Formats: sequence, structure tokens, C-alpha cells
Amino acid sequence: MPFKYDPGELGLHEVEIAITHCGVCHSDLHLIANDWGNSQYPFIPGHEVVGTVAAVGSEVRSVTTGQRVGLGWQSNSCGICEWCTRGMENLCLEAEATCVHRHGGYADRVRANERFVIPIPDALDSVQTAPLLCAGITVYNPLRAHGINPTSRVGILGIGGLGHLAIQFAHVFGADVTAFSTSPAKEEEARSLGADHFVNSLESKAIKEVSGSLDFVLSTINADQDWSVYLQTLRPTGTLCFVGIPPSPVSLNAFTLISGLRSISGSPIGSPHQLKEMLDVAARHGVKATTELFPMAQANAAIDKVKKNKVRYRAVLAN
Ligand code: NAP
Ligand code: ZN
Repeated sequence: MPFKYDPGELGLHEVEIAITHCGVCHSDLHLIANDWGNSQYPFIPGHEVVGTVAAVGSEVRSVTTGQRVGLGWQSNSCGICEWCTRGMENLCLEAEATCVHRHGGYADRVRANERFVIPIPDALDSVQTAPLLCAGITVYNPLRAHGINPTSRVGILGIGGLGHLAIQFAHVFGADVTAFSTSPAKEEEARSLGADHFVNSLESKAIKEVSGSLDFVLSTINADQDWSVYLQTLRPTGTLCFVGIPPSPVSLNAFTLISGLRSISGSPIGSPHQLKEMLDVAARHGVKATTELFPMAQANAAIDKVKKNKVRYRAVLAN
């Protein structure tokens, strides 16, 4: 049975998007399973939306009806706090998420504040771009913030939706890229996406062989790991950055942190400005998601395939 809801009157600054495509992010699976304890049912998941502007509120000036746009994890923010006024809206304490306590993009239509509705450059294909709106910005941002450049040696942990885009962005930034994966069958594709090295992370010996060699390690893994092993892959002053969300608290050996002046950090999505910058970089450097297309009505089949880690590398639902 299709689920219907009445979104009410369109707000002055709201945009209604007629959805053509929506990526299936692992965060949708976390929300469906209430892994973060904040899910309210029923809700419609989906926060990697591409579509066209179907209607605009009377005060909207940034987009026009018929324009192709994207919407990611965030659909609104307070607009007036320190973080919003500094262009870091993703850090706003009142940030609204597209599909938390409201209905998201596995749908015909979705609404958002105009500031979070991002025009899509003409050069980008809608299917391959939908995953950039969450997965893409989530990995682009920390690589950019940590100044990844041709001198950098970067490790990407987990080659799924986020990971396969992280390989591409790290490669575009000129880094020497090592992909860590529990799926040896992904090696060839990881290399074709820009990985210079591939480590089968099921073999602890293979991980040990690269110890002390990396400047920046980005974890996209959504499962518990022995994080100290990955901390040991860092050179002195290196950083282990979490974007993937494991279920248990992260436990690390402080001595490894201290002795090499190493750091751990985390990073949440990105601001509207950073989304626009990331899409421009993607358009100019050919970064695109490798996708598996499902009809919107088969969202459950797509979710199931993501759960089994069988998707190469992002499921996208199409209307
Ligand atoms: P995904 O497509 O399912 O990819 C996750 C990858 O992690 C898998 O492909 C797999 O890669 C690896 N993995 C899975 N289970 C594992 C295990 N037991 N041990 C080791 N590796 C394992 O998920 P995604 O959409 O990329 O999302 C990844 C995580 O990022 C989720 O927790 C999601 O909620 C989070 N996320 C965070 C943000 C943020 O703002 N920080 C934004 C979006 C998503 P291999 O097959 O290569 O091993
Ligand atoms: Zn997401």
C-alpha cells in the first residue's frame, strides 16, 4: 500500500521537488532499524535526492520551477546562529534532517528550505549524482578539510557507497590512495576508481604491512573494528577520521595516539556551499557514483541488497 501524507501549505522559503532519483544511503538503514534511537514511525527514508523544482514558496529566489536540483541529508537550519552565519550550516544545533522526524526522498515529492536545494551542474548525470548529495559530500569534506594533496598518503576503510566516492576524490586531490576492504573481489574496481593499493582487511598481516605509512585514514565502515590496528597504519601526526558510524563506542590505544602525535576526528556531511563546490569538482574531474538502479517501488529490495553488502556501489531508486 503506498503511504500518503499531506505536507500542508508550502512555506514562504520552501521548495517542493518532484523526485526523479534517490540514493539508498546506509544511514537510511540505520534510521529504519532505529540504530540511533531517534526514529519515529512511519517515516519515509531517503536523503540523496535529485529531481526538478515542482513548486516554490512566494519568497524563494534561489531556484525556479522546472530547474534540476539536489537535496542531501540536511533540509533546513536556523539560519541565524554562529555556524549558519559562518557558512557551516551542517554544524547548526537546530539542523533539520531530510528524513528524521519528517518524510524524505523514497517518494514522489519532498520539500526543503531553499538554502538546502542545490542546483545540479548540466554536465552531471542525475543517477550518478544522487549519491554525491550525501555520500559524496561526506567524504569530500574531510579530505578537503585535512588538506589532502599530492604529497598525501590516504587510506579509505570500507569500499561501499561512501568509500568508492572517497577513493575518487582522494585520487582527484592527487593523493596516493590505499583501499582497505573485506571484499577482495572489489580490488579491480577500487583500482579503476583511483586506488593505488588494495589491502584485504580480513588479513591482519596485510594491514600490518602498511603500518606507519598513511597520513590520513577515512573510515566509512558501519561496523565495529579493532580501531587500534588502523591507528597503527598512520605515520606520526596522521589522523584517523570517522564518517562511518559503528554501533559500539570506539576504543583506541592512547599510547599509539600519544607516541606519534596522532589524532582521531569525525566529520558530518557538508554545508550548502561545500555541496556546490563538491558538485563543481565532480563535474570537472569526472567523479561519479557507480550505481545500481531500482524502480522506486522496489525500495525494499534495494535496502535488502545494501544490508547484505552486495551493491556495487550505490543503489539508486528511480521514479
Ligand atoms: P555501505 O554502502 O553499506 O558501505 C559500507 C562498507 O563498509 C561496506 O561496503 C563494506 O566495505 C564495509 N563494511 C560493512 N560491514 C563491515 C564489517 N563488518 N567489517 C568491515 N567492513 C565492513 O554504507 P554507506 O552508505 O557507505 O555508509 C557507511 C557509513 O557511513 C554508515 O554508518 C552511514 O550511516 C555513515 N554515514 C555517515 C555520514 C556522516 O555525515 N558522517 C553520512 C553518510 C553516511 P567492504 O566490502 O569494502 O569491506
Ligand atoms: Zn546519507
